[in-house]
Amino acid sequence: MTRPIRARIDLQALRHNFHLAREAAAGARVMAVIKANAYGHGAVPVARALPQADAFALASVEEAVQLREAGIDTPLVVLAGVFAADELEPAGRHDLQLVVHSEQQVQWLERSAATGPLRLWLKVDTGMHRLGIEARQLHDLRRRLAALIAARGGQLRLMSHLACADTPRHPANDSQLAAFLTLDAAGQERSLANSAALISRADMRFDWVRPGIMLYGASPFEPEVDIRHDLRPVMTLETRLMAVRSLRKGDKLGYGHSWTCPVDMPVGVAAVGYGDGYPRHAPTGTPVLVNGKVAPLIGRVSMDMLCVDLRGQPETLPGAVVQLWGRCLPIDALANRAGTLSYELLCNVNPRVAREYVNGED
Ligand SMILES: *Cc1c(COP(=O)(O)O)cnc(C)c1O
Repeated sequence: MTRPIRARIDLQALRHNFHLAREAAAGARVMAVIKANAYGHGAVPVARALPQADAFALASVEEAVQLREAGIDTPLVVLAGVFAADELEPAGRHDLQLVVHSEQQVQWLERSAATGPLRLWLKVDTGMHRLGIEARQLHDLRRRLAALIAARGGQLRLMSHLACADTPRHPANDSQLAAFLTLDAAGQERSLANSAALISRADMRFDWVRPGIMLYGASPFEPEVDIRHDLRPVMTLETRLMAVRSLRKGDKLGYGHSWTCPVDMPVGVAAVGYGDGYPRHAPTGTPVLVNGKVAPLIGRVSMDMLCVDLRGQPETLPGAVVQLWGRCLPIDALANRAGTLSYELLCNVNPRVAREYVNGED
């Protein structure tokens, strides 16, 4: 047998979550965000499972070209736009829609010898202060882009991104919305909402919504936010016990000897570690499921292994199925304990972990 760790991806759960996004969008078009290899789920299989998406959003031209080369012909939006002028040629050849967030990107477009339609998203900073042109540049840059589009064909749309949507009560949400509404839209299609805003704010849908994390079934909100949703986890991270040990009272376990057995006890060693993407900072006591029952993590997580307390199920044998997160063990609870986010845990699932796709057909 090979090393038994697997990430099982439930495509039916993915379609269910997309359907919820579609319903919440209430007629707005849905740009499914599948950057970073679809948050670790595999961009190509995820795109193939969502043919109803109105567009897909990627982080870079490179990511988008991979989808085109896999035969995906849905509209593709590059959220960062181009990083250098030489990306304009492949972007045009593969019919990619580019976000434009700076005057430099406008200059690259103006100096480009490329022909063919330009489908662009002008990104305005409404208060996140990360990427985006300033509101006072909008008139000038839009005029310059409109001139290019008049010559080459295409379309210009307007977008912005929210800093605090994961905390619906945060006042920055209202001030960013107000700033977005103040912009002269000039009849262009607009987009503002990520997953959190799509679920919590009917007034932020505009023409296009951009759900990411909700498609994968994790909560887009801070842990203390109590907003009901019916999202289903898409990924289950699963492995097996590679050994079961009988340790004696006082035995010290693993790196740093950070855990000491309080009594004689059985300990399971699971074939998963931070080298697979399990968070190294998950503390002793973090729930892990062995044969469907909670067996708490003990000691430090190592690169390829972690240990669990089997006192609750002393008959357990090597080979028992171990679940790290998934349907019965919410990834958000683990992320919270380990001081991180479901986004990071999902993106960090290492390429060495085989993805297994199930429920591909309705
Ligand atoms: C990643 C991203 C999204 C999706 O955000 P979620 O919180 O995962 O829904 C939307 N818009 C932009 C610009 C992004 O970079």
